[in-house]
Amino acid sequence: MSEPVTFSAPKGTFDVLAPASRGYERLIATFAALVEAAGYGLVLSPMFEDIGVFQRVGESTDVVRKEMYDFHDKGDPPRHLALRPEGTASVVRAFVEHRPPLPFKAWYAAPSFRYEAPQAGRYRQHHQLGVEALGTGDPDLDVEVIGLLARFFQAVGLRQVECRITSLGDATCRPAYRAELEAFLAARADRLCDEHRTRYADNPLRVLDCKKPACVAATADAPHQVERLCEPCRHHYQRVKDGLVAGSVTFTEDPRLVRGLDYYTRTTFEFAAAALSIAHDAVGGGGRYDGLAEALGGPPTPGIGFGCGIERVLLACAAEGVDLTAGGGVVAFVVDTTGGEQARDLTRELRDAGIPADRAWDQRSFKAQFKAANRSGARVAVIVGSDEAARGVVAVKPLRHDGEQVEVARDQLIELVRKMADDAD
Ligand SMILES: [Zn+2]
Ligand SMILES: [Zn+2]
Repeated sequence: MSEPVTFSAPKGTFDVLAPASRGYERLIATFAALVEAAGYGLVLSPMFEDIGVFQRVGESTDVVRKEMYDFHDKGDPPRHLALRPEGTASVVRAFVEHRPPLPFKAWYAAPSFRYEAPQAGRYRQHHQLGVEALGTGDPDLDVEVIGLLARFFQAVGLRQVECRITSLGDATCRPAYRAELEAFLAARADRLCDEHRTRYADNPLRVLDCKKPACVAATADAPHQVERLCEPCRHHYQRVKDGLVAGSVTFTEDPRLVRGLDYYTRTTFEFAAAALSIAHDAVGGGGRYDGLAEALGGPPTPGIGFGCGIERVLLACAAEGVDLTAGGGVVAFVVDTTGGEQARDLTRELRDAGIPADRAWDQRSFKAQFKAANRSGARVAVIVGSDEAARGVVAVKPLRHDGEQVEVARDQLIELVRKMADDAD
């Protein structure tokens, strides 16, 4: 016999049990209802992909350069795979592979992975909700997608979430701007932070997003893409802003908004929760990625999407006092001291009638069963002793207030439980 061992969740990961998991359930259910009502269909894709799928789309980002959770499998020769660091690349890879009819509007709720030193609010596995919509460059689709995320936060009950948007230009106007920014940074390289002093040329846009005081000061008067848009990009951006106003989506323009991944074009946006600390206030964001399908071997296909971190949204809910774990659980709890057959049959009848119900096990004492009933969070206890069983009745007792215990004929139980459960609210 081997020594007993104990296991815990791998470093940087966590388990979520009820009732905390109710927050996840609620967010996913709210999200699914909202996006399905707008014509988005669920997409399931593998949790791992050929590492090239992710490298293609974000080679200059930290998550792809330094933090990818990659490994070699047992193939001969071994395949170099990576756990999905974000949602978009997998969905677009699936789109390119299957070529569904356009527009392709998809949503997902799935884990994402990164291999990094765990710290508060950042884990090796976290969970994301998102949508991707491919097949049209229509700016009104940008409005739809941004509006869905805004409506989601509203539906969840968050009140202090702000939307920031900008335009990152396209292949026509971005190269000239990028060259202009690079020249601007080159002239000030010695004033940039340690990381960017030598590495600003990899992705000059990232320097604008750097929170280090040196970079913030050195780029205070940097040129912005939004001031250098070509005519079609300017039109697109204006139509998006007009659409958001028409849809009552409050937003501010932030010309320094930079998305971490290289394939973003034109519209980009981020939602920040005021209740969270400034450094970690993003609860969701996304943008247009008109070059991505092509980068993954597909035909040129415009697209736009967003990702939204479930854990971040839950933190924002906690900070705003939005309780997503309330409710749920069972309504009725059957306490049966006659041997268990009554509990077996009554829980089934209650559940068949649409009343969530649970029971105690192992023929324990009345006292122990009643304690279990209280712990279950049920609104009423349904009590059957040998006396009640002999007379063909059951007793129902409210558990959340000191109401009277009521006795009723067994065939009227469902009706009474419904009524008493409503009174308990
Ligand atoms: Zn910097
Ligand atoms: Zn342009």
